[in-house]
Amino acid sequence: MPIPCRRRRFSLLKACIAVENTYKSYRLNPSAKSGVEYVENGQQVIQSREGLAALCERLREARVLCIDTEFAREGRYYPELGTIQIAGGAEVALIDPIAVRDLNGLLPLLVDPEVVKVVHAGEQDLEIFYRLLGHPVTPLFDTQVAAAFLGYGDQVSLRSLLQSTLGEHLEKEHTFTDWLRRPLSASQVEYALNDVRSLGRLYEMLRDRLTAKGRLAWAEEEFRQSEAVENFLPSDERQAYLGLKGAERLNPTALGLLQEVAAWREVTARRLNMPARKIMIDPVLVELAMRPRSSVRQLGEVRGFSPWQAEKYGAEILEALRRGAHNEPPAIQREESFPSALDSTVDFLSLCLRSVAQEHSISTGTLASRTDLRLLITLGETANIALLRGWRRQLVGSALLGALKGDVEASIVAESKQVRLQWRHAL
Ligand SMILES: [Zn+2]
Repeated sequence: MPIPCRRRRFSLLKACIAVENTYKSYRLNPSAKSGVEYVENGQQVIQSREGLAALCERLREARVLCIDTEFAREGRYYPELGTIQIAGGAEVALIDPIAVRDLNGLLPLLVDPEVVKVVHAGEQDLEIFYRLLGHPVTPLFDTQVAAAFLGYGDQVSLRSLLQSTLGEHLEKEHTFTDWLRRPLSASQVEYALNDVRSLGRLYEMLRDRLTAKGRLAWAEEEFRQSEAVENFLPSDERQAYLGLKGAERLNPTALGLLQEVAAWREVTARRLNMPARKIMIDPVLVELAMRPRSSVRQLGEVRGFSPWQAEKYGAEILEALRRGAHNEPPAIQREESFPSALDSTVDFLSLCLRSVAQEHSISTGTLASRTDLRLLITLGETANIALLRGWRRQLVGSALLGALKGDVEASIVAESKQVRLQWRHAL
């Protein structure tokens, strides 16, 4: 394999030394396919842009790509990518994003409308790809979502899904693995690749079963929603104060201050790629909104905020507080408190929901939450909830609207002790 420049030779040398020092790490295979740096026991590890380009070329004919990533989230605002695993056709490869750096070569495949991208519980992976490449991955097929339409529960793990569908056993998760450390051990690579090895067969099986049940279109509806760009746009920092504990007790002047300092914290967290709470804990935000300080020294004396934090961020915080003094007090929309007299109506609708879910072997959580049911009770047809749209409406939404008009009666069957629902109109 050609080694184009000195620096590269050095880094390979370093990698080889490191490999020798690690038990069972992957090793250089001189007969490797072009552009693949390390191959062992069918493990391909892609470590250069050329290697990535060659892999993408070999994947060109694949119509289904199975994708997974491993990343680290702790101590960061944005998750940091450790590995990308891809399987398609005869290829199974781990891409080392730390070595490759420029991953744009993947983009054409990830947005190719003719190539289905299969993920399992892919929300965070998709977020990572969007940040990396600036486009949502599409078209998608999420095996966890598909499984929920086939009665496997709301958030079935890949491990138990593979076990119950294909009878395959996956190793327990590498929960404490540091996916950013190099070199990766052979067992890390193996573990990571196993997450995509069977995904293709799982996809085919789930897709066939969804088709047989007439539910493929329902699942597709969900997939199209998870591809929407809106899912990936950063949240509005001006709204950051809304969820803070104690915000609802503040007067309009304090609320104006709180909005500014909370927005400052959010923006700073993104800039420094740190969790917002590492920059300033929530109670300090609320304290500053109630009793604003006017000097760095005073800030350093606030409980829960250290002198070094005051030193580092003080000027910006004081500036935010000054802005907040002129801030139009933003009103917090208090959630209308739900009348407790209607709690059992929620229970009753839950019962109807569960009965429909069981009958169609679909998970209840996929259909509606208790919050949805509360909104349905108070707002009826005008509630802006998924339950009243698309396939959900067809399956259960309109029936529940009917239930609210007295369309259903419940009783217990004496012999079986089971609940029986009687609908006035056939479902
Ligand atoms: Zn994984």
